[in-house]
Amino acid sequence: AEVGSHLKGYKTPSEGLAARIPTEDQRQVTVVAPKNADPCTSSGCKWGKWTDGKVYIPYYIASHFSSREKSIITRGLESFSSFSCIRFRPSRSTDRDWLSIESRDGCWSYVGRRGGKQVLSLARSGCLYHGTVQHELLHALGFNHEQTRSDRDNHIRVLLNNVQSGMEHNFRKIATLNQGTPYDYNSVMHSTTGGTQGHSSLETCCQYDIARLNTLYKCCK
Ligand SMILES: [Zn+2]
Repeated sequence: AEVGSHLKGYKTPSEGLAARIPTEDQRQVTVVAPKNADPCTSSGCKWGKWTDGKVYIPYYIASHFSSREKSIITRGLESFSSFSCIRFRPSRSTDRDWLSIESRDGCWSYVGRRGGKQVLSLARSGCLYHGTVQHELLHALGFNHEQTRSDRDNHIRVLLNNVQSGMEHNFRKIATLNQGTPYDYNSVMHSTTGGTQGHSSLETCCQYDIARLNTLYKCCK
């Protein structure tokens, strides 16, 4: 059954160059589906685990954010340590791969670790919500939107007529790693842009997001 919701559109990381195009959140579409791990997570786009079992991900927060905005971002970054082995930490000059959190044109992220500096955009207007920060960080950790899940047609129907012209690629299926997890219609990857974004967060209603994250990175706290 289709359900109206706000989904963040993004450029799919299908193959080759396409995988290097950042996601972009454009407009409202009608679709519901679960998200899951991108195939690239099995071939190198996961972030590395340290010897202590934690996954440290260096980040830099651009100076154009206000202190209030920075605190929203920091709260999102730090939330991961309460339910996973993911540890975002300030970047150092010696870091090879790192997230540069900047206010650009919308809320978007690359999917998975792409190597070197990688921008994650949280526009000052419209993206500074806890759930949105977590959503974009989950992209950077290797997760796709719900509607791309490989078996989505068993559960949802994508209404392409409601998709903005030129954004159809956001609704192509990906050979996602489903990890045996059930659909999670409350996934934070399913809370999105526009007025509703940020209303869900990982603390409140997204236990499968957390299970998938910990399964993918083979760790818990
Ligand atoms: Zn997204």
